This record gives sequence, structure tokens and C-alpha cells, in this order.
Amino acid sequence: MKYLDEYRDAEIANKLLEEIRRVQTQPWVLMEVCGGQTHSIVKFGIDDLLPAGIELVHGPGCPVCVTPLELIDKAHAIAARKDVIFCSFGDMLRVPGSRLDLFTVKSQGGDVRIVYSPLDCLKISRDNAQKQVVFFAVGFETTAPANAMLVWRARQEGIQNVSILVSHVLVPPALTAILDSPWNRVQGFLGPGHVCAVMGYREYEVISARYKVPIVITGFEPLDLLEGVLLAVRQLEQGRAKVENQYVRAVTREGNVPAQKLVVTVFEVCARKWRGVGEIPASGYRLREEFRDYDAERRFEVGSINTQEASICISGEILRGIKKPHDCPAFATECTPAHPLGATMVSAEGACAAYFAYGRHPKNQIAPAGGEQAASATAAPANPEGAHS
Ligand code: SF4
Repeated sequence: MKYLDEYRDAEIANKLLEEIRRVQTQPWVLMEVCGGQTHSIVKFGIDDLLPAGIELVHGPGCPVCVTPLELIDKAHAIAARKDVIFCSFGDMLRVPGSRLDLFTVKSQGGDVRIVYSPLDCLKISRDNAQKQVVFFAVGFETTAPANAMLVWRARQEGIQNVSILVSHVLVPPALTAILDSPWNRVQGFLGPGHVCAVMGYREYEVISARYKVPIVITGFEPLDLLEGVLLAVRQLEQGRAKVENQYVRAVTREGNVPAQKLVVTVFEVCARKWRGVGEIPASGYRLREEFRDYDAERRFEVGSINTQEASICISGEILRGIKKPHDCPAFATECTPAHPLGATMVSAEGACAAYFAYGRHPKNQIAPAGGEQAASATAAPANPEGAHS
């Protein structure tokens, strides 16, 4: 397939691997930040191809995974109301809350609809003036501009029966939290390609300089990831630490400036709780006061729902690169994609779900029915609805 196969060329991959082996003289730990990158790494076995001394650990960049359980429960409470049409990208519908998921809410009579753009909610609102239309606004900086545009257009057009349930998180504060941790193992990052396509990478230059850590903004195909690893290892071996842009076909230093302006017009930075990790200061967006009428949490008064995560789950340590899915005793036994217990199993982009989908079971465990092939065939693609990365 043109534009895809050219980033999966085996001959070039082997050359990049040879070059990584040539420059590497000592062990290094790198973190790929995005869930889409994790999915590709596990799917194509890139971590297994790397020299033994280079370890890839999996970062917090799966927005569906880090959406707090109580927010999912709030979504379900709103979606179950008779006066609500609840709209979401498809990848949130199968994410379980404490008791059920959005598919179940729908089967019980809730009007839950999959949309392909937040702006679809404007037409639904116009066509259903007697109903309240709510969009589940989950994601990193990548999806914030479209969600901001929904609120902006609604206000411009005087549409009152639409609101958004906001769970936006920001990547740079999460990287800072990882680097500040006394248990941190990460020495270099493969930075988030999609997020930087919107935001640029100036914020990452500050982090790289402050923590003296290489950050290579990297794409999602095998050759992108191998080149990202090569650039990061080369910096580490040479004692350098700066931001490099591997993903030049999508990312510029400044990013998409009009989109950024729209985001800061509608949203402001706030503390956010990350599922499996806890609250990180200044790590999310909420609606600015002048747009708070469009805040579904306010409109439907669901602010008091509290939930408890499974105590066995170590997804917080996985999301910070301290542990891997195999370190969890529940992996592929009590916890599977059909019955996820924690953050990193709820979405196809989560590290635990990726390990499960591609048959990375501990040696004493049996692969899922039908083996790896069946698991791969049923696994959702790296960015299932092209929505949340
Ligand atoms: S396998 Fe399940 S319980 Fe274990 S860390 Fe992953 S999500 Fe949590």
C-alpha cells in the first residue's frame, strides 16, 4: 500500500538496526510515549529486533486508558438519561466503568451514538431541539482543537442543547512527572508524533534541556520507530540531549498555530487525574469560565461519583515505564480485553491490551483461543477510530 509500505521496508529496517547496533555501546532505556507507538512496536516485534541492551518501556500516551474510571461512570450516568443523546467516538463504547459500558447503556434504551467528528453533534442538536446532546471529549492535545471548535461553533450559532464531558490530558506534564519520580528509569523518549503535529515541540525543548534527556519526536510506522530509536541512542552515546524531529512529514516546531489559538480560547489548563497514575498538576484542559455553560459535568450535576480501581492492577507503574504487563499477576488471567481490570487493558492502544493481542503471554501461559493469529485478527488497529491519539 503506497505511503504505508514505504515505511515498512525490510531492507531499510535492517540497515537501521545495523546502525543502532554499531552506535550502541551500553544499555539504554527508552520510552515510547504514545499508545499508537506501543501498539506498532508490539505488533511488529520491534523491541525484539533491537539489541539486548536497548529496552523500550511503554508510556502514558493512550488517552482512553488514562481516562479516570469515575469519569467513565459519569458518562454512563449521563448517557442513561431519557433526555440525553450521548455521542462519542467508537473506542469509548466498549470501555467498562464500575458496572457497565456504553454498549450496555445503549442496549438498555440509552440514546448512545457513534460520531466521526465532534462537529456532528451540532447537526444532531439542531435536529433534536427537545433533547440534550452530550459529546464525550476524551483525548490528548490532538483532539482538543475539534472539541474546542464544537463549543465555539455552538456558542456562535446560539445552540444551547449541546455540551461536552471533558477529559483532556496533556503530554508534557506527564513526562515531567515520570522524570521527577525517584523510580524513573527512562533515559530518552520517542516523543508523541500526533500530539506534536498540533502543538509543535517547543514545550519538549524545555523538558529536554531541564532534565538533559533526548526527546525524538517520532512517527508510528516501523521505520519511524527504528529511526527514532537510532536518533535517541546516538544522542545518548554522544552525551547530547536535545529535541530531534524524526516525524518531519507531519510535525513542525511551531505546530498548527490556528488550532492552538482556538484551544486556548475555549480551554484553560487545570490539574487532571490520570487513571492508574493519579492527579498531575496542570496536566489537562477544562472549559474556560465563559464557556462553562457547555460543561456537561455542570449541566447534569454528576460531580460526586467516586470509584475504586482493582488493587491488583499495576498499570500506574506500567504507564510510568517502571514495570511491564508481564509483571502483573492478573495479566491474561483475571485481566483480559474482554474483562479489563485496569487502565492499560481497556483500549487496544494500552500496553497490556497490545501484549495480549499479539500473544505476548508469559511462557507458562497459553495464548488466547486460536493462538496469536486469532488474537491479531481480532485486535483493533493502532488508532481504532482515528480519533483519540
Ligand atoms: S494486566 Fe490488567 S490488572 Fe494487570 S496491570 Fe494490566 S490492566 Fe492492570
